[in-house]
Amino acid sequence: MSYSSDVLIVGAGIGGLSLALRLAAKGYRIRILQQREPPLPVYRPEIVQPAALQALAELGLLNRLAAKAVARVDTFQFYRIGGTRLSRVSYRILEHPYPYTLIGLPHHTRRVLLDSLSAHSSVHIHWETRLTGVLRQGSQVLGAKAIEGGQEQEWHAPVTVGSDGCRSRFREALGIDCRIKSYRNAFLGILLRRPLDGDGNGELDGAVHYYLGRGEILACFPCSSTTLCLLFMVPACAPQTIGGQELSALKNRLCAIAPALDEPLNQITSWEQVSYLAPVRVRVARWVTDGATLMGDAAHACHPHVAQGVFQAMEDSRVLAKVLETCFTRGDFSARALAPYEVTRRPVVERLQRVADEYAWLWETKNPLFTWLRDRIFRNVGQAPELLQRIVAIEAGIETKPLTLVERLQALGIAA
Ligand SMILES: Cc1cc2nc3c(=O)[nH]c(=O)nc-3n(C[C@H](O)[C@H](O)[C@H](O)COP(=O)(O)OP(=O)(O)OC[C@H]3O[C@@H](n4cnc5c(N)ncnc54)[C@H](O)[C@@H]3O)c2cc1C
Repeated sequence: MSYSSDVLIVGAGIGGLSLALRLAAKGYRIRILQQREPPLPVYRPEIVQPAALQALAELGLLNRLAAKAVARVDTFQFYRIGGTRLSRVSYRILEHPYPYTLIGLPHHTRRVLLDSLSAHSSVHIHWETRLTGVLRQGSQVLGAKAIEGGQEQEWHAPVTVGSDGCRSRFREALGIDCRIKSYRNAFLGILLRRPLDGDGNGELDGAVHYYLGRGEILACFPCSSTTLCLLFMVPACAPQTIGGQELSALKNRLCAIAPALDEPLNQITSWEQVSYLAPVRVRVARWVTDGATLMGDAAHACHPHVAQGVFQAMEDSRVLAKVLETCFTRGDFSARALAPYEVTRRPVVERLQRVADEYAWLWETKNPLFTWLRDRIFRNVGQAPELLQRIVAIEAGIETKPLTLVERLQALGIAA
């Protein structure tokens, strides 16, 4: 059997679904291939930044996300492990219609997009369908092959979009050169129920709490009115080796850093309640080729310290939808016709990747001198309102201009 559509999308993540929504609204016929998901839930917080909230509002979806089990958070507190508060960061200083974040589990945003897509009869999602290769004629990509119901089928479309995440099989099938950077640290994700009387109680209140030490980070995120999600940094390793360690040792360490977690952590009795999350950075030689393009993590996965994967995937979809409209008008889906998408988006995400790598280096450092420097930066920034506003705007996805040299010197306390 073979299928056809105007656009074929591989991967029903945030990027693929938001692109489908934008194109379906313009009347295009879309098919999406989505492989079987692993059955285990992923315990990790997903911060939806102000810029992503604005994008969701433009799609008429913000209220639907806000109605899910998510937490509205505008304050991030940073502490030195075993020491004092380094700084308090409030999103309320932003001049933006949405000066806050929504934090929930990753499937909430995706669910909102899926629900909205169900109103479009021109969109067909092939669930449990795993991409196996691309269809080509010369240099032109004509679609893809995938296993559906145990059989390999063909999907034909004038343009195929690879939105299948950082380990993109589509990117590999296109033969696009790619460098995947694995970081030296990974994170353990743990979901906890918050005690009902937790408000105003340190890490259990309505703010995000980060604890930074020497080569150690614990972050506590409210994920709804009743849940809290922890991320604890560990050295990157094979996920199986984590399960071989003492769970009690992990819980003791978390309680030593944030004593209010003592009681909620009683809920954690097995490693199955802990997710192992290893961030990667993806850099590819090109995003577009004749008849095909990459988006989201498949094109530019970034270290999650900047927490902008959702917004950047949505922003790809906004720019790509516009470029594709022009391609349809001209009947031209060549790499040259698709290039404006890459030209617009690549510099922005590459700048963000550099910022994220700086954060990963500075926040995670074990070196006593750099730890001292990091703490000094957090303190200085917390006391410099204009600088703080710039940094929060970058984190929120509102500003793309990186910090200037003078701003960096201000953060170090060298310039006024
Ligand atoms: C630890 C961690 C924390 C993070 N925290 C945040 C945060 O707080 N805020 C934020 O904005 N971002 C965060 N991110 C990043 C964010 O999750 C991603 O950037 C975002 O999900 C990318 O969306 P995507 O649609 O490009 O890819 P994905 O969400 O990865 O979606 C890809 C889809 O393709 C499917 N797929 C894969 N291979 C195939 C195949 N062969 N055939 C068919 N389907 C396939 C997958 O099953 C999946 O559904 C975090 C990432 C990590 C690792």
